[in-house]
Amino acid sequence: MRPPTRHLMAGLGIGSRIVLVFVLVFVCMGGLGLLLMRNSLLPTFDNMEHGFAQESAERVVSLFDQQLGSVGNLNRDWAYWDELYQHMQRRDPAFARSNLGNESMQSSSLHAILLVDLQGRVAGFGARDFSGGAQAQAQDLLAPLQHRWARFPVQAGGTECGLARVAYALSAVCWTGIVQSNGKGPTVGTVVMARELDARALKSMAQFAGVTFTLEQLGANHPATPEQGVLMWQLPAFQYLPKSELYAEFSKDSMAMQYLLLDLNEHPLSWVRIRLHRDLMEQGQRVMVNVLLQLAVVALATGLVLLMTVHWWLVRPIGRLRGAVADISATRRWEQTLAYDRPDEIGALTQGINSLLAVLHEQVGALEALSSTDALTGIANRRQFDERLAHELVRLGRHSEPLSLLMLDVDHFKLYNDHYGHPAGDDVLRQLGALLRASCRQQDLPARLGGEEFGLLLPDTDAAGAAAMADKLMKALAALAIGHEHSLTAPQVTVSIGIVTWPWVQDGGAAEFIAQADKALYAAKHGGRQRACVYGAAGVPRL
Ligand code: GH3
Ligand code: MG
Ligand code: MG
Repeated sequence: MRPPTRHLMAGLGIGSRIVLVFVLVFVCMGGLGLLLMRNSLLPTFDNMEHGFAQESAERVVSLFDQQLGSVGNLNRDWAYWDELYQHMQRRDPAFARSNLGNESMQSSSLHAILLVDLQGRVAGFGARDFSGGAQAQAQDLLAPLQHRWARFPVQAGGTECGLARVAYALSAVCWTGIVQSNGKGPTVGTVVMARELDARALKSMAQFAGVTFTLEQLGANHPATPEQGVLMWQLPAFQYLPKSELYAEFSKDSMAMQYLLLDLNEHPLSWVRIRLHRDLMEQGQRVMVNVLLQLAVVALATGLVLLMTVHWWLVRPIGRLRGAVADISATRRWEQTLAYDRPDEIGALTQGINSLLAVLHEQVGALEALSSTDALTGIANRRQFDERLAHELVRLGRHSEPLSLLMLDVDHFKLYNDHYGHPAGDDVLRQLGALLRASCRQQDLPARLGGEEFGLLLPDTDAAGAAAMADKLMKALAALAIGHEHSLTAPQVTVSIGIVTWPWVQDGGAAEFIAQADKALYAAKHGGRQRACVYGAAGVPRL
């Protein structure tokens, strides 16, 4: 048989193996779940967050466009205003006083209004303080516009807008070629308006968009090319703002985006920087951890219930069965049976073990009987005789009943064999065995000690009782009248008997007891055979 291979789980019980396998499966499933969630859930959140970021940035940029739109509407109203049309032709000082003053500009949230005639000269100018600090000059406003108008001439009645720095302040600037209110030309000049996008305006824009942003003026530290930004989105075209790209960079917990504001000549003006916290991703991760935790709890609870079931239905009964079988093996009490009250496989296994135990019990019994019985006569053999004698001697040590031993030997048996043949001799031995068994009590033990020699152990029998038994036996044998023509003692089979009775001898063990019986038998032989001699009696030599 191949020796069992040693492996990782060698030495572990079923229960421990199941726990180990459960832990392994739990860890693997957990890892797999984590991987699946990471690969499916997190990218979804990531995409959603990118979309959200793009939308937020678009909202902020569109607010700049709305500012331009609002100034543009005002500017368009003026350009179609007949009073302005006439003023450009007649230069009415009263018009300039009432419309280019501080008050009228404040009421329409403007910071500068510039009127330019057809030759490009200043025909009127009014300004409020810009937060840039310096007093705005008409020229500040005109310079970038002239650059623009050189490439794109002013359209009669057509409003255009763009961002510019006026007196160092970021401003929304719009201009329109002045026409009559019915839209008919020819144009008599251009009306230009500027509204500074000051801190207050930017703050309210941020509030409106729900996104905080900062403006970063371009300079040596802030070049017009993005310093970061691995992603680039093209924002949709707005009404007035020229097209520009949105650059974005995502880190673990935030999203940084920047958008380059271009001025009315499409030159870089400022970076709009937007920084958003990655709430969605955080939430997603939290949801994921929660889901995983809940799944883990459910898996653990299921696993525990399974483990308890396996323990209750499998591990525990198998352990009990093993203990009971080990008990029987240790005590060698094969007659025992295992209790079974289960209608399942373990019950069937218990029944199977019981059947095996029954077979074992029977076999052991048969073997024991075989090893303690004489094959020819069917009575006890020497081995059983010795065991019984030792047992009786131990018993004698505790109680004081007498114990006697008769040792019988067939007289001239060799001659019998020689004359009648060995099978006939065997038959005589069998008859003697049967006679011994029939003549004694239940507690007596007749045994064939070897060859044609028999022993009869008589517990609770004194010397007189033993002598009486010897006499009874010889008479019974005589009654059988088995012919023995060649015997030198009698014409039939006879026996000589040596008798010994405890407590004739005070000490010495079984060997001595038997030797004493032997001595008595020897005396019987020498005394002429067909007689019984008692050890210790007159004429019987002592040891
Ligand atoms: P004694 O009266 O002195 O005992 O003479 P004996 O011939 O009986 O004694 P001995 O010891 O000389 O011979 C014993 C004989 O017993 C010899 C042997 O052939 C015979 N014998 C021993 N065992 C068996 C047996 O199992 N069957 C048979 N048929 N004969 C046996
Ligand atoms: Mg003999
Ligand atoms: Mg003999």
